[in-house]
Amino acid sequence: MTTPLQLKRGADLLNDPALNKGTAFTDAERDAFGLRGLLPPRVMSQAEQLARILPGVRSKPSPLEQYAYLVSLHDRNVTLFYRLVMDHLEELMPVLYTPTVGQACEEFGRIFRRSRGLYITAADRGRVAEVLANWPQDDIRMIVVTDGERILGLGDLGANGMGIPIGKLTLYTACAGVAPNQCLPITIDVGTNNTALRESHAYMGLRQPRLRGPEYDALLTEFVEAVQARFPLACLQFEDFGNHNAFTLLEQWHDRICTFNDDIQGTASVALAGLFSASRISGVPLRDMRLLFLGAGEAGIGIGDLVVEALCSEGMSVEEARRHCWFVDSQGLVVQSRTDLAEHKKRFAHDHAPGRSLLEAVETLKPHAIIGVSGTPSTFTPEVLAAMAREHARPIVLALSNPTSKAECTAQQAYAGTEGRAIFASGSPFAPVTYRGKTHVPGQGNNAYIFPGVGLGVTVSASSRVTEEMFASAARTLALLVTEDDLAMGRIYPSLSRIREVSRAIAIEVATLAFDRGLARVERPDDIAAAVTAAMYEPHYVSLA
Ligand code: NAD
Repeated sequence: MTTPLQLKRGADLLNDPALNKGTAFTDAERDAFGLRGLLPPRVMSQAEQLARILPGVRSKPSPLEQYAYLVSLHDRNVTLFYRLVMDHLEELMPVLYTPTVGQACEEFGRIFRRSRGLYITAADRGRVAEVLANWPQDDIRMIVVTDGERILGLGDLGANGMGIPIGKLTLYTACAGVAPNQCLPITIDVGTNNTALRESHAYMGLRQPRLRGPEYDALLTEFVEAVQARFPLACLQFEDFGNHNAFTLLEQWHDRICTFNDDIQGTASVALAGLFSASRISGVPLRDMRLLFLGAGEAGIGIGDLVVEALCSEGMSVEEARRHCWFVDSQGLVVQSRTDLAEHKKRFAHDHAPGRSLLEAVETLKPHAIIGVSGTPSTFTPEVLAAMAREHARPIVLALSNPTSKAECTAQQAYAGTEGRAIFASGSPFAPVTYRGKTHVPGQGNNAYIFPGVGLGVTVSASSRVTEEMFASAARTLALLVTEDDLAMGRIYPSLSRIREVSRAIAIEVATLAFDRGLARVERPDDIAAAVTAAMYEPHYVSLA
């Protein structure tokens, strides 16, 4: 059989980032593929290449410059890029994803060098299939798509949002080993309402206000249907859509195609894992917990829905499970008498007197956990924390809003406000805190614990759906990987250094569910764990000659 590599020679081979090994091409390969003289003479091992490149990355004056350097490495040599990223994941994840990726999106026009991924625009209506046909790979298994409306906490960045699907797919490969050539980042450019951006000379997207209403819906429907036709085994992950569209698209497609929304479901899974771990510390099982959310958006409602799924799997009714979840949004406690509730909040509106403040809600409901997903900083006040500490020996405080500046409270505030008794985790990382002689290590509820493993499991099984049961199972699996040592330090998530092990374990559970539930579209392997391991991409150079 002819491999693609054998079709390329000389400069064409060096200019193909998927095939290029740079100075690691051996003497025999240089002769066989017409590379002699096109490279410096010394043949280097991959390890020697890394030793040359890593100081270069570290010497860059800012995370954004590091980001640009890593992108250019990816543009030259994909294998070396992933070796570097996987060997230094904890160091480079904040460069390739949050927080630096946010800045990269804001400055996309300035740092753009070479196009990556697919752009589908409002002008492509009626010919989306034609655009998808231009993508050079056929066996795409993982797509991350955004319309750029709500990029991280930065709002509408239009076509500049492309940094997000690219970054997210980098983590699918680096954290779980989803093969890079099976990943496809897509931006749907329907315009932007960010006028400053739209009018800036560096902006490369459509210079028009956002498409809305039936025309937007028609474009998205055409897109999803075209993806099914062109890449029938692909999982379609929606990312950083505006609140309304995110819920609508998930509702529309989740039980018809292989899709999920990480902002809603991935967040939910990582938060649920945190609650499972926290219950190992507090001794209160999830079924006995009352949860109070600050914020009833994608993250909050997503977590609530998954908690309900987890409780129902233990035999509780949906109605009873929902009574464990309470929400405070910007207008106060979410209760039935309110007339201003968006559709997605109504299922959690309880028959209860209205309440204006979080403190009032904490004092009346006495929740075991407060979960901050409001994007509003300093809302877990000393009074709120003190009220939590009065009621519970080990109050659970999850300040999940990103970035750090948006966290509902800091780690220091959480421990100080609860006499050091809080079980605390946050969305953005906080350094360990020493309070009254004891050092506490805050956990980081990073979605990267969940989505790469789910993606790998779905890929291996070619699952036709991504179910809530899979996210609940991923949460349980993640929680089980938290060690007693982690818990003793107050940490409710495993170290990020174990991310490949975590992703593999989650992928095995997800793939097993896909086979058990009849969702898989490939034959069940004798050994699912071995099949998952075998599917995990490793960035080794393949010998060619
Ligand atoms: P969203 O816009 O969908 O929802 C925000 C919600 O907060 C809305 O219901 C709004 O009414 C409410 N809100 C705003 N200000 C409030 C206030 N002062 N008091 C009470 N409620 C208030 O946003 P989202 O996607 O749900 O994200 C919310 C936050 O969660 C963001 O900061 C995001 O970064 C963070 N998040 C963290 C993770 C993670 O840690 N893994 C994952 C996803 C989202």
